[in-house]
Amino acid sequence: MTKTFPPSIIALDGPAASGKSTLGQTLANALGYLFFDTGIMYRAVTWIALEHDMDVRDETSITQLAQGAHIDIMPPSKADGRTCDIIVGDTDDVTWDIRSGEVDANVSVVSAYAGVRKALTEQQRRIGLRGKVVMVGRDIGTVVLPEADLKIYLDASAEERAQRRYDELIARGQQADYDEILQKVIERDKIDSTRAVAPLRPADDAVIVDSDKMDAEQVFAHVLKLCK
Ligand code: C5P
Repeated sequence: MTKTFPPSIIALDGPAASGKSTLGQTLANALGYLFFDTGIMYRAVTWIALEHDMDVRDETSITQLAQGAHIDIMPPSKADGRTCDIIVGDTDDVTWDIRSGEVDANVSVVSAYAGVRKALTEQQRRIGLRGKVVMVGRDIGTVVLPEADLKIYLDASAEERAQRRYDELIARGQQADYDEILQKVIERDKIDSTRAVAPLRPADDAVIVDSDKMDAEQVFAHVLKLCK
């Protein structure tokens, strides 16, 4: 496909806590595009499984769950730092629950299942192909939307990313342990980048942005230049 300019479909991938959501949201606002954080879907399926005391190692049951899961993203109903409401089923507001340590610890197991990925990727692709979208995840440029007009791979060291996650939790008034967060970030990256289906890696035609050397505003300015 011919790449259009300005880019209509923007794929933004990278490891855990590399600042993808902040960048994606700011970029989408600046361009008047839809912001779609695909991690929400994997997190929501994991949350439902844990809520129902399901064994996340039971691939068949978890895949069936993902195929039938009803996950909705709505405008924010509360001014508590959320950018949207994440609703599971008809009523469960799981906006913050899907960010829990328990979900963090299990989501990479759930997202490695081929059937789970197939179910969620189909929905992501359908929405992404409408264009005017900034889609954030691990495999957007490689699998979900390989025809994206612009692909960004946002990277940062594990230490920097763990520090950001720590600061986020403290800012939300939650308890946090830096060393524990760092170990979990490293572990999640390892599972995400070594899984058989759609592993975390930059697409061949992705622009790699290292956010260790830039703050959020600099990263945004750099990426916006690529779009305009
Ligand atoms: O981006 P976030 O940290 O919220 O993603 C949570 C998890 O969901 C990732 O660690 C990864 O296992 C999974 N994920 C994925 N593919 C995506 C988005 C997220 O496998 N496109």
